[in-house]
Amino acid sequence: MTTFHLLTIFPEIFDSYLNESILKRAQEKKLVKFNVVNIREFTLDKHRRTDYRPYSGGPGLVMFAEPILRAVDALKKKIAKNKKAKVKVFIMSPGGKQFDNPTAIKWGKKYTDIILISGRYEGIDARVKKILRAEEISVGPYVLTGGELPAMIIVDSITRQLPGVLGNCDSPEEKRVSSHEVYTRPEILEWKKKKYKVPKVLLSGHQANIEAWKLGKSDKK
Ligand code: SAH
Repeated sequence: MTTFHLLTIFPEIFDSYLNESILKRAQEKKLVKFNVVNIREFTLDKHRRTDYRPYSGGPGLVMFAEPILRAVDALKKKIAKNKKAKVKVFIMSPGGKQFDNPTAIKWGKKYTDIILISGRYEGIDARVKKILRAEEISVGPYVLTGGELPAMIIVDSITRQLPGVLGNCDSPEEKRVSSHEVYTRPEILEWKKKKYKVPKVLLSGHQANIEAWKLGKSDKK
């Protein structure tokens, strides 16, 4: 089982997405576990602040290091009870290393516990990365308002690669020739007086030709 520990100041963001469809079933089958951790619970002051103005001035707010460090410490202690645990900490950051499918496959095989820290505002105090020896990960060349969507993207793409998650065992695209161009019923779609047909080859039943067609459409040409 792979456990994802999701650190955030907005824990409710994760509720709907992780509890529907394939990700929901993966939890029910005990293939994955999602542990959402509210960073605010690790603040010690009475206002439970998680962020403050940056040194040197400039816009916005920066997330404090200490609540995050305390949260990760507490998690690591729990995780260490499993002697076989393999844990890694990642910080969501638009300036981080680009996440991709090979990375999803690799991490799914390598780690039992994946800690994903989501930032907000101007990001997280840079000392967190240093102290935790965490890796910064980006989901793409654009800036979002928070790390929760990136964390869910990473969770989703790793989970679908785990053995047993996708119902049909030939479903992981990587295991067979697959294409991004797919069709289902009807064979001839009539829309506003025009007809749109399914490519003939897909109806031919000729497996070799079908695979060749898909290969042409795939990005693994
Ligand atoms: N000033 C910051 C922007 C922070 S965006 C900078 O230039 O790095 C706020 C938070 O959203 C970040 O801390 C990060 O956790 C998350 N985030 C935004 N875009 C992201 C992306 N493309 N990939 C991963 N995380 C991202």
